[in-house]
Parts: sequence; structure tokens; C-alpha cells
Amino acid sequence: MNSNKVYDNFRDYDFISNTYKGIDRNKIKWYPTIDKSKCNNCKTCLQICPMKVYEINDNKEVIVAYPYRCIVSCSYCAVRCQNVAISFPDEDELKEIIKKFKG
Ligand code: SF4
Ligand code: SF4
Repeated sequence: MNSNKVYDNFRDYDFISNTYKGIDRNKIKWYPTIDKSKCNNCKTCLQICPMKVYEINDNKEVIVAYPYRCIVSCSYCAVRCQNVAISFPDEDELKEIIKKFKG
């Protein structure tokens, strides 16, 4: 995914009502998960995420602090993680969730 795709995904958001394609953002399980066995805390994900999903904890580890800020269907940070430490839910699962709430 390139950076243009990240910003394309913004178009499906309504930030005032916090909805994605008309669905409450908090009902959509789309967010990054860090595999701590692979992460070296390089901070790339923290620096490139436009939504400030990541933070550093007291142990100086990068963590997913605000998962529901993540842009639905974005996976830019996973592409940029050189250690392949970031994963997302299956795209088909995401489509099913959207289908369910859209009816
Ligand atoms: S980019 Fe990958 S390796 Fe670097 S801090 Fe984020 S998850 Fe860890
Ligand atoms: S996929 Fe990664 S870069 Fe994109 S919004 Fe979510 S946490 Fe940020």
C-alpha cells in the first residue's frame, strides 16, 4: 500500500460521527497487532501513522495505544515494518463485518 492509498481511505470516514461507510467505527475490528517477538521498537510505525495509533509505553516499547483510531482497510504501517511484526485481521473478515452492518 502506498501513502496515497492511506489518504484515499479517509474519504470513507466521517470524523464528526466517527463512522466508516456509515458504520460506527468502534464496531469494526480493524487495527494493527504487534508481534513482540519480532518487533525491535524501531518506531517506524509510530512515526508514519497519520492517526497516532501507536505510543511508547513506560518500558520504551512501541504499543498499539489507540486501535480504533486506525483507518479501516489501511495497512500502511505493516508494509513499512521491516521486521514484519505488524498484522491485521483478514480482509475477507473485514468485508463480512461491513456487509453485516450495512445489511
Ligand atoms: S515498525 Fe515494526 S519493528 Fe518497528 S516499532 Fe513498529 S512494529 Fe516494531
Ligand atoms: S494501518 Fe497503520 S498507519 Fe494506517 S492508520 Fe492504521 S495504524 Fe496507522
